[in-house]
Amino acid sequence: MSELLYLCANFYDMHDKIYLSLAHLSGAELAYVQAAFDENWVTTAGRNLDDFENALNRFLGNKSHALALYSGTAALHLALILLNVDAGDEVICQTFTYAASANPVLYQRATPVFVDSEPDTWNMSPDFLGTAIADRIKITGKKPKAIIPVHLYGMPARMDEIRTIADHYGIPIIEDAAESLGSTYKSKHCGTLGDMAAISFNGNKIITTSGGGVLVSANEQLMKDARYLATQARDAAPHYQHSQIGYNYRMSNILAGIGCAQMTVLPQRIEQRRAINQLYRTELANISAIRFQTEPSADYYSNYWLTAIEIDPQQSGGITRETLRLALEAENIESRPVWKPMHLQPVFQQMPYYGDRTSEKIFEAGLCLPSSSILKKEDILYITNVIKQVFNI
Ligand SMILES: *Cc1c(COP(=O)(O)O)cnc(C)c1O
Repeated sequence: MSELLYLCANFYDMHDKIYLSLAHLSGAELAYVQAAFDENWVTTAGRNLDDFENALNRFLGNKSHALALYSGTAALHLALILLNVDAGDEVICQTFTYAASANPVLYQRATPVFVDSEPDTWNMSPDFLGTAIADRIKITGKKPKAIIPVHLYGMPARMDEIRTIADHYGIPIIEDAAESLGSTYKSKHCGTLGDMAAISFNGNKIITTSGGGVLVSANEQLMKDARYLATQARDAAPHYQHSQIGYNYRMSNILAGIGCAQMTVLPQRIEQRRAINQLYRTELANISAIRFQTEPSADYYSNYWLTAIEIDPQQSGGITRETLRLALEAENIESRPVWKPMHLQPVFQQMPYYGDRTSEKIFEAGLCLPSSSILKKEDILYITNVIKQVFNI
């Protein structure tokens, strides 16, 4: 074969790397950023911030008061501070999550108590939540200060059952809705189901401000306090006067401009991620070893931020999620094991854990597939063909 032909053949074999989850810009972002420059509001206040927060409040149903912050992690940290979580306190966390759900508990020198998942939603098991709270009260003589359920990969947690237990004990709920903007439970938005919620706009999330987050709550006074703490806790005085520890957690007006544009395409992004999830299901329906994270009933509506599957070792003929991950990687396709549970992480190993290892089993078998809304139908078909080849279908 001539060198040129060889190069051409290689060229047609190659494609750009397919990533797990990338930003998907609308095209209108720069106009908002430009407006901030034109008005010289190049700071942590300005019109983009107001507009972004108002758009979020409208989207979530007009009962929330959104406070834009520099990350979802900062939102979770502020929520804990607002609940006076302090050294010696305990906070119930979902073990099956990203470390940013639990790290802020340690920032406050408090102890996370990890609760396992239930197999349907992959989120916090109400049964183990009840067991954990009762046991912690017996051991420590006081109740946990907060419960942080997560809506993993966009799938809403069993919020009615979690709410019943939380109310029984009088413990507030902080939703980690970082991955679930646009998901609903019984027609109510994730982010409005707890007493407070954190949503993330990191670059890999369903919409992005490049980096950023928001704290939301229907409690207006609490959100006034949040705004005060997030902007260095400055008292009303002409000089700089402080009677509390403050934080510099406010989002920049520049980044909020990206958020304003992204809010206009959020409904599309939800449809696109859900369509990708549906295409995977249709294409992989004949592989009995593959099970999808799935809405348990019509009460659950996931934004399917990431499409996540489990490989059933009983039916896979020795193929593991690692076999599949490496086969995809060889084709320049990024996939990723599902989150490794927090109670298995070296940094959290000493912390209490309540469960039956459900999350460990999902971790062993689970893989997240490329789910960026910028992916085209051909990209998904390319991916599913690689998967079918691995399973010889
Ligand atoms: C992304 C994420 C966070 C943290 O949000 P950042 O904006 O990256 O700080 C917290 N919890 C979960 C489950 C996440 O996926």
